[in-house]
Amino acid sequence: MAQHTTDSPRISAAIARKTVTQCNLCGNKQTRPFCPENGRGLVQCTRCALVFVAQQPDPHELYALYGETYFHNDQSGEVGYTDYIADENNIRATANRRLAFVERFTGAQKGKMLDVGCAMGFFIDVAKARGWEVEGADVSGFAVQYVRNRFGYTTHHGNLTDLHLPAAHYDLITMYDVIEHVPDPSGNVREVARLLKTGGVFELATPDVGSLPSRLTGKRWIGYKLSEEHVYYFSVPTLTKLLNDNGFDVLHVRHVGKYVTLRLFLNRLGFYAPFLSRPLQWLERTLKLSERSFYVNPLDIVAITARKRT
Ligand SMILES: [Zn+2]
Repeated sequence: MAQHTTDSPRISAAIARKTVTQCNLCGNKQTRPFCPENGRGLVQCTRCALVFVAQQPDPHELYALYGETYFHNDQSGEVGYTDYIADENNIRATANRRLAFVERFTGAQKGKMLDVGCAMGFFIDVAKARGWEVEGADVSGFAVQYVRNRFGYTTHHGNLTDLHLPAAHYDLITMYDVIEHVPDPSGNVREVARLLKTGGVFELATPDVGSLPSRLTGKRWIGYKLSEEHVYYFSVPTLTKLLNDNGFDVLHVRHVGKYVTLRLFLNRLGFYAPFLSRPLQWLERTLKLSERSFYVNPLDIVAITARKRT
């Protein structure tokens, strides 16, 4: 989970942008402004309600961002993570929890899995320990090299739709915090369907623009603030359509959290309620609780589990 900072220059501000005129989900060309007060230049499809950035960055320039600084930088809150590697234990705990859930749908036999957007490979390393035969994919060359060097797993470098992986090969494909970044979400989900065996399971998670926290906080929703590089904002209905239209039956919808240290949690809390964070930070220092981890579910990240249709 990234840490919010203010007054940091936006890394991607210089990236060339092009105007997207057609809805990626339904092909409609009519849009209306969506929550213009948040300053993100969002529009909403008038037919299927998909929310997206009208002026989208060039994907190749965008991917050039995902070097080492994306996973370790001092200006996250705009781009990337404060220190992804230092958060390894929390990411592993979150991975175990998510895998335990998805394994309810994959059956006792654990076969081949692919994690799209595998970052440093902590998720696939946990999956391996749980009995899966694992592969990763990431657009970040730094991340791919890290996984290969440290774990030795097969890790593919590039956008999923450019990788040409074998058809009907995987039993499980996971895609966490990825679909909101890609220039063609429909193409990515179609590709996942091609790569899965019939009956294979797909799980993805993304910020939920239709969630109660999003609707209650409006332009101040943390989902708008945290990531300069998010180009699509899905809701449960638009994600369901994305899956249904591209070969999947939805099995389960839930909101998921992650394990965080108290220090990070207080930092996040300070974003919404600065008046609460000062006294809590004092308490945290006094009781020396900084590195204690616990599960936080802000109810605005949606995870959908789906099965490839026969
Ligand atoms: Zn649409």
